[in-house]
Amino acid sequence: MNPQYICIHHSLTKDGTVVDWEAIRKYHREVNGWSDIGYHYGIERVGQGTLLQVGRPESQPGAHCKEMHMNSKSIGICVVGNFDLAPPGLEVLRFLSEIVRRKVMEYGIPVQAVLGHREVGAMAGFDWKKGQYKSCPGKYFPMDTLRSLLSGELKFT
Ligand SMILES: [Zn+2]
Repeated sequence: MNPQYICIHHSLTKDGTVVDWEAIRKYHREVNGWSDIGYHYGIERVGQGTLLQVGRPESQPGAHCKEMHMNSKSIGICVVGNFDLAPPGLEVLRFLSEIVRRKVMEYGIPVQAVLGHREVGAMAGFDWKKGQYKSCPGKYFPMDTLRSLLSGELKFT
């Protein structure tokens, strides 16, 4: 795969003190019947720390967003949590932006091509605010803040 986009998701599960990543993998394998977890990477708070979880190899297309052929054109990153309820914490956002920054640089992906799942839906003509699409990566997930962090317009102090 030669990724031109990065697609950000949330898991819709409550992030807690235990590792949820393997439970998501199990669900994707056993319930969805996929060969592996649908995402390439995951970001998960476990206890006091934030971890990078590894999903499918980047050489393989993902199973995270059908619209705009995103599965074969993007790296899918899932932030564990439900951001329909509240925004991700600063630590998680900081961690995510560092991971995404590495991929943006590695593949020469423009910051504008770092998209939330719902933004891909909007490109395909579906309005999540009208209930035509998922709100993923969550109503409160600050995609503009993430892109500002990546473009250097905004910095963590
Ligand atoms: Zn999603």
